[in-house]
This record gives sequence, C-alpha cells and structure tokens, in this order.
Amino acid sequence: MASMHAMVLNAPRSPLVMRERPLPQAGAGEILVAVAACGVCRTDLHVVDGELEHPKLPIVPGHEIVGRVAATGAGVSGFALGERVGVPWLGATCGTCPYCRSGAENLCDTPVFTGYTRDGGYATHAVADARFCFPLRDGGDDAEIAPWLCAGLIGWRSYRMAGEGKTLGLYGFGAAAHILAQVAIWQGRRVFAFTRKGDTAAQDFARAFGVVWAGGSEQAPPEPLDAAIIFAPVGALVPAALKAVKKGGRVVCGGIHMSDIPSFPYSLLWGERHVMSVANLTRTDALEFLEVAPKAGVKCEVTRYPLARANEALSDLRDGRLQGAAVLVP
Ligand SMILES: [Zn+2]
Ligand SMILES: [Zn+2]
Repeated sequence: MASMHAMVLNAPRSPLVMRERPLPQAGAGEILVAVAACGVCRTDLHVVDGELEHPKLPIVPGHEIVGRVAATGAGVSGFALGERVGVPWLGATCGTCPYCRSGAENLCDTPVFTGYTRDGGYATHAVADARFCFPLRDGGDDAEIAPWLCAGLIGWRSYRMAGEGKTLGLYGFGAAAHILAQVAIWQGRRVFAFTRKGDTAAQDFARAFGVVWAGGSEQAPPEPLDAAIIFAPVGALVPAALKAVKKGGRVVCGGIHMSDIPSFPYSLLWGERHVMSVANLTRTDALEFLEVAPKAGVKCEVTRYPLARANEALSDLRDGRLQGAAVLVP
C-alpha cells in the first residue's frame, strides 16, 4: 500500500516525530497534494508550544503548503493532476454562519485550519478542501513562494487594514514583514522596520530590502508614522507602536497570539488612533495577494530544511536565528 511520511505533534511542548502512514484518500470535494515545500510559520510554534488551545492531536503542523495535485476527489473541478497549488491556513468554513454570509469568512464560527484542526504540510502529502486551495501559476521556485501562503496572505490582510498612509512601520522583521515591505515599497510607501533591541543583523536585513529606516522597537522612528503592523508576538509593542503613529494612525496586530498588552495612558490612544487585530484570511485576500506579489516582484529569503529536521527549523524560528522564512522540503 502506498504510504506517506509526516512530522507529527503528539502533545504540545514535545518534539515532532517522523511517522509513516498510509497515503490518505481525497474525499468528495478534496484534493490530495504531493507537498513540494511547506513554510514554517510562527503560528506553528504557537501550536507546538501549547499557546493555541484545542489543536487536533496528534496533528501534522504546517499551513504554507506548495505542492502538486496528486489526486482529486469526487466533485472537484478546476484542478488538473500535476498542477501546482497552494494550501493556506484557512482550511474550510461553514458557509452558513453570519460571518460567512457577510463576506467575513475569516471570522467563521466553525472554521477548519490547516495544520491546527486538520493535518497540514509538514509531510510528503496532505489532503485539502479544494475550495480553499489556490492555483499557483506564477512566482517561481516552490520553496521561495511557500511563505506567501500565510506570511503573504495574512500579511496582506494586515497591510490592507493599515490603510493607505505613505509611512508604514513594521514591528518584527520576519517572514511576513520582509514580504510586505517589498509590496509597500513597490507601491511607493516608506517603510520603517523595528526589530528586537540591538538586533543589528535583522536591521541590516531590513535595509537590504529598501526600508528607509531600521532600528530597535524601543526606538522612536525619525518621523511619525501613518500606520504600524505588529508581527512580533509581543504585547508591549502595542503601546510602543501607538507612540510611533500620528493622529488618526492605525496599529494592526497581525499575529494569532501575543503576550499580554501592558496598561498605557489614554493619551496614546487619543487623537483617533486605532488598535485592531487581524484574524485569518478570506479567499479574496488570497486572490488579491497572489495577483499582487508577482507584479511587485516579491522574493522571499528562505532557509531550507529537510522535513526530518522540522524541530530544528522550529527552534531556529523560536530563537530568532533566521532571517526571512524557514521552509521544509520533503
Ligand atoms: Zn461560517
Ligand atoms: Zn501562518
């Protein structure tokens, strides 16, 4: 019988273990994807580290999947065998709750999330709901576009929520920020990069993408910003970013988990400053980003790890040893 390999999380705060499993079947409406690359997202760390509640266990993490269609289930149309596809975090939605019906499927009451509530892409194969997969005809190398599937898509949603201002701060210059900085600069915006205090390697990395200023998150930018997006999971960055934005400015929290936000004086919020979070993505966000990214010439800086070394990739991300994105290749 045909088989697959997967890196499996049996319990939070334990290492992933390699398992051989029977090759899954694509059910009605599903596709079986032969994984070519799967990005390692900070959300995977939150799952592995037990910071997100109620994962399916055991779970195969990974929601930045690039692969080829290996089989299609009954009723699937629009995907050819061998076609390159992307599988994102939003695995499925109910389609009937008030959020789904009002175009806010990212807020669905009963969603399915790839690599969290259904098995994901830290594997040689994955099954996905075809309605939530995307053809990937542009963008080049499989591993280099894997981070588009979450850092790009949810980063894009965060970026849109940040508004149309010309000056944009990015707190935490990792996978999402290095993608969105390229889009923002291509659109004529001025980008300010904030890193961990004293992380000059990350600041140099940001400058290489053309940001106008890079410094530590404890520093004030050289001019007030129209908006800031916080990608780092650090609640103390919320008051820091509010200090950095001008009246009417927006502070968008782009991550799924953050440490507690310390109390701060109302004067930081006064002046019609906004603080908001971005949750998940809609398929519209994905289609928009997948159209924009090749035009903007987005290039991801990736470090490749063999699938069996997923634990090492997670550790490197956790400890800030990476520039850009980690990607697993089976
Ligand atoms: Zn719903
Ligand atoms: Zn993600």
